[in-house]
This record gives sequence, structure tokens and C-alpha cells, in this order.
Amino acid sequence: MPEICRVIEEAKFTAREQRAAKNKPQPWIVLKLMVFITTGIMGYAAYVYIGRFCVEIIKGKRIGASKGTGIALLTVFCLLLLWMLWAYAMVVLTAPGFARNHVPQCPPPVPPPPIRPSYVHSPANGVHDQDDHSFRGQPYEQMYAVNDAHDPHNSGVTDAFPRLDTLPEVPLPASNSFGLSRAASKRVTRRPPTTPVLAPEYRYCSRCLLLKPYRAHHCRVCGTCVLKYDHHCPWIGQCVGARNQKYFVNFNLATAMFTSYTLSTFIVYTVRSSNSNEDLDPQQILITALSGLFFIFTITLFLSHIRMLALSLTTVESLRQQSMKDREDHMLADVFGFWELRRKRRVKAEWDKEWGRIDREGNMWWAGSNLQGWEETMGSAKRTKENPWGWLSWILPFRLNRRNYTETGMNYQLNPRFDKEGRWRRRSEWPEDLR
Ligand SMILES: [Zn+2]
Ligand SMILES: [Zn+2]
Repeated sequence: MPEICRVIEEAKFTAREQRAAKNKPQPWIVLKLMVFITTGIMGYAAYVYIGRFCVEIIKGKRIGASKGTGIALLTVFCLLLLWMLWAYAMVVLTAPGFARNHVPQCPPPVPPPPIRPSYVHSPANGVHDQDDHSFRGQPYEQMYAVNDAHDPHNSGVTDAFPRLDTLPEVPLPASNSFGLSRAASKRVTRRPPTTPVLAPEYRYCSRCLLLKPYRAHHCRVCGTCVLKYDHHCPWIGQCVGARNQKYFVNFNLATAMFTSYTLSTFIVYTVRSSNSNEDLDPQQILITALSGLFFIFTITLFLSHIRMLALSLTTVESLRQQSMKDREDHMLADVFGFWELRRKRRVKAEWDKEWGRIDREGNMWWAGSNLQGWEETMGSAKRTKENPWGWLSWILPFRLNRRNYTETGMNYQLNPRFDKEGRWRRRSEWPEDLR
């Protein structure tokens, strides 16, 4: 074999090896490392708070706090710590649900989806050599890619705004007010993605070799398809998905409460004792700083998950909705000045009239109301057979008695404002009772 051929073959082989390595899940110990570190931090915080703070107060070694105060501080701390550890154990030990346990492997559906010319030739979108042309489904990262927004060929999920010169004529609205006609004359209008994301060929995972259930996505770190994939969380060493998202929300609330309590009591009593010229304990200062950091982190996650659950969105799905909004803002910025906020709002309101709102009517999995979306994951407010704890299970990590627990994460009702393949339809095309 001539030397040049050997070199090419070798390079091909290495590339294939590298690709295979990329698709492999992380080794178990790397995946779970943060769980041990996190547990260690919690244990250390407990040692400093109890051993170096509460016990000192109870022994009467601190000025400005009585023995009774010490016992009260200790009791509340222990309750919050137990709440947090319980929620942490639940979220770490409950698997998010894996598609491979529910769906048999199958060959790729035929016919294969059209391969976008830009997708194959552009190195920016990942290089595919010849034997890689068998399609690979669309990883969600690509579905939400925004870098080729103005590529005339693109037809991705969020990059479905074709170039202006390729668009068909849009009839001008009769109303001339608030710049609507100005937007229309520039062919700026709402254009939801046209990719049939729910068609089998778009739901096939070429790594797991199966047809992903609705809302499942492949996690590269775990190396498998996860039901109602939300995100991969290194702090819990696994994905947040259909079956552990409730505990994840419970855990974030518990940690936000725990850290805010630790932070505030440390600050109050450190200020008091520093007034009386006592030495500051560096270990307490470290825990105060860590508490502040983790408080900001967990309260942000908790609040954003409240919003997303109310809208029935996962983190990946909310990115998709957000990029649709960003694109509209971008388009409107081409037509209106940044000061013309009212005009832009009016144009969007007009689009909402035609299509519905992006986060709700334009969301494939919208439950119809905020409470319903929240209850679907967190349990009902009222006590039921499924949720004997009622709203308490929103706070504490109780397990819900799902009648069909094994099916959790497998069945999602598609918003009837979408067609079977997952394309958002105009209000005029919705079922009559919804218009
Ligand atoms: Zn997969
Ligand atoms: Zn994962």
C-alpha cells in the first residue's frame, strides 16, 4: 500500500476512534465524583455550624447569645439539614428514567430525512465523513443552533427563519397603525419552525438505536436517552428527568432554605461577637461564603424551575422557546428603532392574535394552565390517592403513588395547536373549540 494511503487510512481510523470515545458515557467514578464532594461540603458545614458555633453558644463561651438561643439555633439547623439530606438522597438515588428500558431497539426509520447541504458540508456543524452519512437524528444542541440563522438552506428547529429574499410575499394588513404595515412591508412576521421534530426520523437516536419517546433526549455524559430530559446535573451525578425532577425541585428549595438560614444566623452572631472584640473563626467565614454562593445558585434554579414547570417546559425546551423570542426581537430590531418599544409590543400582540403566545399556545407540551403544569410534576394541591400529602409534597420529597409509575415520562399529550409532526399551526387551523 502506498505510504499516502496508509496515512489516510490511519487518520480515518483515529477519527473514528475519537468519535466513538466521544459517544461513550463518562466512567462511573467521574460521573459520581461531585456527589461525594457535595456530601463532604454538607458534612463540613454541619461540623462547623454545630461543633464550632452552636456548642460554643450552649457552653456559654459566646457573648451576646444565651444557652436557650444556642439550643434553638441547633434544632432548626438540624431540621433543615435533614430536609436537605433527604431531598438530596432522593434526587441522587432516583433514576430520571431511561428510554432503553421502555423502547425496543430498531433500525432507523425509512425514508431518511433530507440531509441539509449546509449540515453536511459545513465543518462548523460537525464533520461527517462518508460512512457517517447515515443520519443520526438531531441532537438537541443542533436543533437549537443559532449560528447559521441566515443560511438559505437551513430548516432546523429554531433556525427556520429563511433569508428575507427567499420568503413569499406577505399580504399587508389593512391597518396602518403602530407600524404593523411597516413590519409586514419588510416581510417581518412570526415564522415558527417548520421542522417536523416529532416525525420518527427526527426522533431516532443513532447512538441508542431507538425511537425516542416524546421529550426524551440523549445525554452525552450519561451516554443514554433520558425521559423528559431536563439537563445533566453534575452535582447529583446524573440527569434531571421525568422521575427525579420533583426531587430536584424539592432539593433546591431545601438547600436555599438551609443556606439562607446558615448565612443569616452566622452573619447576625458574627456581627454581635465582633462588636465584643471576639476573634472571628476563619472556618465560619468560609461556610458563610459557601452558603451565600449556594444560596444564589439554588434559589435561581428553584425559581426558574417554578416558571418552567408552570409552562410545562424542560430546560432544553425553554431554550428553544427563548431562541424563537430572541429571533423575533432581532427581526423587529431591523424594522424599528430601539426606542419604539410600544410599536414592537403591538406587532407582537398582533402576531399573538394570529398564532397564540410563544410560551403557551406555541409550546408543544403546554398543559393549559400554570397550576396544571406544576401539578403534573410536583403532585396535586389537594390530597388524592396519587398524592396523599397534598401540597406538602411540593416542599418535602415525598414519592407520589403514580398508578402507572413505570409509564412516567413515556406519555405526553401533544398541544392540539400543533400538527402530528410537531409544527405549530395558526389559530385559524386549531380545533374549533380552542380558537
Ligand atoms: Zn440516545
Ligand atoms: Zn446525563
